[in-house]
Amino acid sequence: MTARELIDMPDAEWGILRDRITDYRQGRTAGLNCRCVMCWDPVFISARRKNGVPYPLFSHFQGGGSFCPWHHGANDHPERLRQAQYNGQQDSQTHRFLCEQIDALAKLDTRYVSSAVNAYRPPTESEHGKFPDVQVVWRDFPECVFEVQLSRTFQTEISARCTHYEREGVALVWVLFGFDLERSEIPQSFVDVIRRHRGNAFVIDRSPFRVPTRNGRLC
Ligand SMILES: [Zn+2]
Repeated sequence: MTARELIDMPDAEWGILRDRITDYRQGRTAGLNCRCVMCWDPVFISARRKNGVPYPLFSHFQGGGSFCPWHHGANDHPERLRQAQYNGQQDSQTHRFLCEQIDALAKLDTRYVSSAVNAYRPPTESEHGKFPDVQVVWRDFPECVFEVQLSRTFQTEISARCTHYEREGVALVWVLFGFDLERSEIPQSFVDVIRRHRGNAFVIDRSPFRVPTRNGRLC
């Protein structure tokens, strides 16, 4: 596939390719291995905005493409970006606050059994456990994990968590925060999550938390 053909694809179509390539790196069987035709190193699809429109580009993975004439230099490393992102303590405080709100909401459900915020969840099927933002057990309901996403979460992290919880048989719900659904353009990381939620978005906004229960069940 040429870069031109990629750019001509509808958003949803290249979005799915993007997911599957990242999934392959995470060891998911439904993933897709994509390589640069020039150097044969693996590539992924990154999204760059121009005038508010996201365009898909092929990019070599970190550390790849060193000798490739098409390579344009190193990508920002997710770890470094993440540090810069959380340098603002404000972000992590907001994150913590939202997790506690979800935990409090979970308790309003009459089926509530237990929950935890940012606690270690030992694996049953996988090698390593994870620290989900909020984990909830409701009676007669599959185990649930909520991940609160502020404006930037990396595609690799989204894929890793989806893969992990799928393998564990745990329902994963991403909750988005930090943009105005009506007005602002949707950040690429949110677009990725919404696509993985089959077009659904779970959003927390700034309005006071209402109690979203019906017949004692959280909605
Ligand atoms: Zn290459």
